[in-house]
Amino acid sequence: MDVKKIMADLEQKHPGEKEYLQAVHEVLESIEEVYNQHPEFEKAKIVERIVEPDRIFTFRVTWVDDAGNVQTNLGYRVQFNAAIGPYKGGLRFHKAVTPSMLKFLGFEQTFKNALTTLPMGGGKGGSDFDPVGKSDAEIMRFCQAFMLELWQIIGKDTDVPAGDVGVGGREIGYMFGMYTKLAREYNVGVLTGKGINWGGSLIRPEATGYGALYFVEHMLHKAGKDIKGKTVAISGFGNVAWGAAQKATELGAKVVAVSGPDGVCHIPAGMTNDMIDYMLELRASNNNVVAPMAQKFSGVTFTAGKKAWSIKCDIALPSAFQNECDGNDAKELLANGTWCVAEVSNMGCTPEAIKAFQDAKIMFAPGKAVNAGGVATSGLEMTQNAMHISWTEAEVDAKLHQIMESIHEACVKYGTKKDGSVNYVDGANIAGFMKVANAMLEQGL
Ligand code: GLU
Repeated sequence: MDVKKIMADLEQKHPGEKEYLQAVHEVLESIEEVYNQHPEFEKAKIVERIVEPDRIFTFRVTWVDDAGNVQTNLGYRVQFNAAIGPYKGGLRFHKAVTPSMLKFLGFEQTFKNALTTLPMGGGKGGSDFDPVGKSDAEIMRFCQAFMLELWQIIGKDTDVPAGDVGVGGREIGYMFGMYTKLAREYNVGVLTGKGINWGGSLIRPEATGYGALYFVEHMLHKAGKDIKGKTVAISGFGNVAWGAAQKATELGAKVVAVSGPDGVCHIPAGMTNDMIDYMLELRASNNNVVAPMAQKFSGVTFTAGKKAWSIKCDIALPSAFQNECDGNDAKELLANGTWCVAEVSNMGCTPEAIKAFQDAKIMFAPGKAVNAGGVATSGLEMTQNAMHISWTEAEVDAKLHQIMESIHEACVKYGTKKDGSVNYVDGANIAGFMKVANAMLEQGL
């Protein structure tokens, strides 16, 4: 495989699709050596096929706001790869959503889902709808209008959406309600992240954050370290950051920073359970600001315009958006002595930041391994739905734990270098790629 040539072709075919090209480039660089040892991959043109989505649906979503004005947004579903199972991946509602963003996320999802050991292909969808400042009724009308188009292309054995940035349990509820009316059947497995009383799985809301911390624990143990007493900085205050803060605290770490688009809250003594719970209230307010935490709790200092990476910490957990930690942030973290960075968001660090961490030889793990606990628990939700049963919290948590351990093992297996160090980026990319590529090969064209 000639990475430069493939990238040049892709840049020509998909000009300006920055995030998508960035994600593809990272994976190709990791898999190049292994790929070249498998002439059968080259013969079947696996790499040229695996980087393109199977199909992309684009649709108009028209809804009415509280003032009675007609609003129009664009909706998308990227069905990326179904070699190992039905398309599976979240829906992102955010004003910056573009096809490039959803293609990068669908591409990442394909390998992430392969790592979970569960039979799920990769997909992603969403809309440029901006939930910030919207009322509950507006959110409901938008979700209903979105489902009016989406319902025809999803199904429990074809494509199973879930939440992502801007889409949580409330939005899944409104979409599921509309789906049920349109499809005229109670097809419980068509969405995951459902409410606990109507087919949802225990632990699903916390799963991404919990899974991330289980992964970090394994990384630390492998390096002979323990998470107890370590300081942690987290960006974001949505479901994912909340789960991560909760589990980090439970495991004995101190969460000293949480941030939002408005700035960072510094909590030198570490977050208390009340503060962690308050993160959900902040998110539910739809205002997208973290500053009120400093007004509500003593011992919290808010600094406007600053990121979580400006706070001294042992472990940094980007948990908000792609490319939220760049080269300058990496420098700041390294100067402050941070020795472990784990992406809880998808592609949370830029290539410059990753290079800086790897050059400094600190621990770094990519989102597709670290945050796979969310979609893995979605997979467990699908299994429970198919079997018409509900597992207990302890059962789901034990399975999540086991999955994160096996993802860590896969990264170590494929990412261990000659000097004994583990490159988790290579490990995750190669392990995910091998599974999907072999499935594609065995299934023919
Ligand atoms: N949006 C999450 C992710 O990036 C979860 C997807 C799902 O549960 O299908 O993996």
